[in-house]
Amino acid sequence: MKVGFIGLGGMGAPMAERVVKAGFETFTTFHQSRKAAASLAAMGATVLASPAEVARAADTVITILPADAELRDVVLGSGGLLEGFTAGKVLIDMTTATAIALNEIAAALTPRGVRVLDAPVSGGTTGAASGTLTIMVGGDAGLLEECRPLLESMGSRIIHAGPLGQGKVVKIVNQMMAAVNLLAIGEAFAFGMRCGASPETLYKIVKESSGYSKMMDRLPGFLLAGSFQPGFKLDLMKKDVNLALDSARAQGIPLLLTAMASQVFAAASVAGKGSADFSAAAQFLADLAGVDLSQPEASEHGSGAVGG
Ligand code: NAD
Repeated sequence: MKVGFIGLGGMGAPMAERVVKAGFETFTTFHQSRKAAASLAAMGATVLASPAEVARAADTVITILPADAELRDVVLGSGGLLEGFTAGKVLIDMTTATAIALNEIAAALTPRGVRVLDAPVSGGTTGAASGTLTIMVGGDAGLLEECRPLLESMGSRIIHAGPLGQGKVVKIVNQMMAAVNLLAIGEAFAFGMRCGASPETLYKIVKESSGYSKMMDRLPGFLLAGSFQPGFKLDLMKKDVNLALDSARAQGIPLLLTAMASQVFAAASVAGKGSADFSAAAQFLADLAGVDLSQPEASEHGSGAVGG
């Protein structure tokens, strides 16, 4: 199988390296900077001038781009994949984008005999480097089986989520829940600390209680340490909650908590935290209560009873 790989960013670059190392003949292109493409070329990949050329050279093209606009540009724009694709070729889009954009792209490609899978990922840059990503796949189950060896070079849990677009839907649901749970931690811990609780005690007890969410893994090393090296950048989470709002608008349904979360992420981004780990949004919320989650003793009102 000849593989095209487009989008050599924080996730794409280590994923593409794994594809090359797994022995797939790989074609890529560059965007703005040639650095990532040059590193991949040093490992044996071929660098071509445009996505259209990648689509001509490869049987299966992987895209992992920021979101909807970039995906539309790479597939449908000038020099895009659509110009180079012929019948029988496959697009696997791994971007966290909306099902709306993905379905638009499929509507342009399918009449030409191009088959499409949507396959967003979770597991972050560490999972990308170690090949342990979770890959949630929407599309034809038979096509997924054809592509499984390629997907297995990047992920250790490959799950069929349903028809085309369902990978995107599941990924956005996950991001909505992660965002809201994370902010709940910031607000609730700040409240607890204002009432005199120690954040370590809160962590130890709530972790084993019904308030637990996996977002509490962002306490040690991040919130409790006051350290926000990404990780997963706050601006990416801001983008993901906005994808949820865009998708809900198209369905005509409200997303009250996600809309609130979107405002907090937007405010934290404007406050200069967009490139920090997304957990900085929980601290941003705690700041409204005058609480530094990493400094129990230094909070303005670090002790005292509720209403006290
Ligand atoms: P990134 O911004 O680091 O990389 C995006 C890449 O796309 C860049 O190399 C950019 O040059 C390239 N690109 C943008 N527009 C392009 C165009 N028109 N033509 C060609 N290339 C173009 O982002 P990332 O962290 O690699 O994330 C990629 C996707 O994966 C996003 O949808 C993100 O939400 C998702 N994701 C990221 C993480 C994470 O931890 N970073 C985890 C899970 C999912």
